[in-house]
Amino acid sequence: MELERLVCNSCGAPLEVPSSAKFVTCSHCSGVLQIRRTESAIYTELLADIAEKTEELSERIDDLATNSELNAIDNQWQIERESLMVHNKHGKSQIPTRGSSMAAGIIVTIFGCIWTVMAINITSSSGSVGAAKGVFPAFGILFILFGIYNSISNFKKAEKYERAERRYRQRRSEAKRS
Ligand SMILES: [Zn+2]
Repeated sequence: MELERLVCNSCGAPLEVPSSAKFVTCSHCSGVLQIRRTESAIYTELLADIAEKTEELSERIDDLATNSELNAIDNQWQIERESLMVHNKHGKSQIPTRGSSMAAGIIVTIFGCIWTVMAINITSSSGSVGAAKGVFPAFGILFILFGIYNSISNFKKAEKYERAERRYRQRRSEAKRS
């Protein structure tokens, strides 16, 4: 049986192993070694080191998987977020909030009230007759209704946005934990 001369990769002690062997236990340090044969060299590698490397590698693969899952969740949220945003009068999208929808509704409603009161005063004092008496105050009433409707609809959008954002954050932290 042909013997190969090797050196323990762990402690440096010389080893003699059969050329067919794949593993050897070092008689000096009791390290369990794998025998690696390449075209140009034969060397030993401590199995504990191999196990550690394998574990490191699998951890890195786990990290990569987690990262790509997080990326997918983030991308999906970007798209969903865009669809839940409201557009202001300058065409810019912004996040709907309960506060701003209430404020906008209140402003339009106040404007509608002032308009209605002024329209009633003017049309009754100027002695105008017929349609004008009803039409101008009616504009004010429309404003008020529009203000209330708009406020409720934006409020609902704000709630929807908040729910979606909560879902996104939850999914993200779940992905991080796994
Ligand atoms: Zn050894």
